[in-house]
Amino acid sequence: MSGLRSVQVVNVNDNHNYVLEDNTLQRILLREDVKDLPLVVVSVAGAYRGGKSFLLSYFLRYLNSPTEKRNENGDWLGNETDPLIGFSWKGGSERHTTGILMYPEPFITTTAAGEKVAVLLMDTQGTFDSSSTVRDCSIIFALSTLISSVQIYNLKENLQEDDLQYLQLFTEYGKLLKNEDGSKAFQMLMFLIRDWPYYYEHAFGAKGGEELLKKRLEITDKMPKELCDLREHIRSCFDKVSCFLMPHPGFKVSNPSYNGNFSELSTEFRNALKELVPSIFAPENLNIKKINGVKVTCADMYTYFQTYMTAFNSDSMITPSSIFENTKRAALMAAIREATSKYTKIMDAACNTDTPSMPGEGVRVTHNQALAKAIEAFNKKGKMGSQKEIGAYLTQLKRDLEDQLPRYGLMNDGKYRKLAFEAKEVFDNTVKA
Ligand code: GDP
Ligand code: MG
Repeated sequence: MSGLRSVQVVNVNDNHNYVLEDNTLQRILLREDVKDLPLVVVSVAGAYRGGKSFLLSYFLRYLNSPTEKRNENGDWLGNETDPLIGFSWKGGSERHTTGILMYPEPFITTTAAGEKVAVLLMDTQGTFDSSSTVRDCSIIFALSTLISSVQIYNLKENLQEDDLQYLQLFTEYGKLLKNEDGSKAFQMLMFLIRDWPYYYEHAFGAKGGEELLKKRLEITDKMPKELCDLREHIRSCFDKVSCFLMPHPGFKVSNPSYNGNFSELSTEFRNALKELVPSIFAPENLNIKKINGVKVTCADMYTYFQTYMTAFNSDSMITPSSIFENTKRAALMAAIREATSKYTKIMDAACNTDTPSMPGEGVRVTHNQALAKAIEAFNKKGKMGSQKEIGAYLTQLKRDLEDQLPRYGLMNDGKYRKLAFEAKEVFDNTVKA
């Protein structure tokens, strides 16, 4: 079992600015073997001390377990006394950090459709209650919803009107995003109710959750219009909305010496874990992150993170239309990034020190070929925006790549001169001899 720990990728500093841990994020998302893979992001978001990190550590245990142990008996839960590690889930200094944490290694796996994907686990936390920090929380929550393909909204004891209201921003944004292929703005939303007390009304698990959700999303005659609209739009913005009722884990979990092992959890909680965790990661439920109906790769996700963070730091208010504009920009930036990387790869390979130099016009010929490949990559990549906007980005791309040519020319000339110098030396030495 891997002993890695979650790492902070988004921090909030004292001035209420968001800080992206750029190097950390690059190490995770731009790793050579994952950067081009479509991404599944499972996020658990909600207030502090809600058992999010605890649960994520059990997700991790499942993902780290061999396939033959992922059975109905719950063999993946491991040994009775194994301490629970991965996401720091107990007190300590991390407890009140607002921000986003990630497990530093994506899990490479295959969806039911046979597609190779990278699965990332994300822990999102904030206070969600006091008004002074409401901007912080809504931004952190917004970021995690925009970035994840499975958003698990962790709630205590019940699903209430306020909890639904937090989703308004996304439903409004979802309305602006008209996907050509008819797909919805977001993939999966799960309300996860912890310590569900009314098991006699709705049983623990997915089935009871479905019943509760139906009740909560029901539109009644006397309901004010905003509430009706919100309910209508929640379903229309997510491909799937579900609810799961989790029992109390038992009071042993609050003992300071408890190490997270599963044998001290209540039987109901253990059974719920056995139902919940395998269903989230079942190949048919591995939902690839899509933006505007287009699959997002790990490298694309890096660009989305950067764009959203910059935007959220500069705007005092995030609105559905600002999210929409920034999503559009990020999609274009992701296309630029991929095109540029294609160009650089070809040119670096042709002009690096290991390859022989070419005659001057050879560099221009290679440049033209690399440029054509880059333009092809840009055009193929799913983008949002008008033809005019896309055209402007393409023109800039061509200009930027054209600007690279002199540098490659020099690299090649340098090798040419070195070669000439060495040849002259050999000649001189031969003459001398
Ligand atoms: P987080 O702040 O949401 O990440 O919460 P943690 O995962 O750090 O857990 C906080 C405390 O709640 C720990 O002492 C856990 O043992 C305990 N805990 C974990 N799951 C649950 C749960 O479902 N219900 C309750 N009541 N406590 C839990
Ligand atoms: Mg936590």
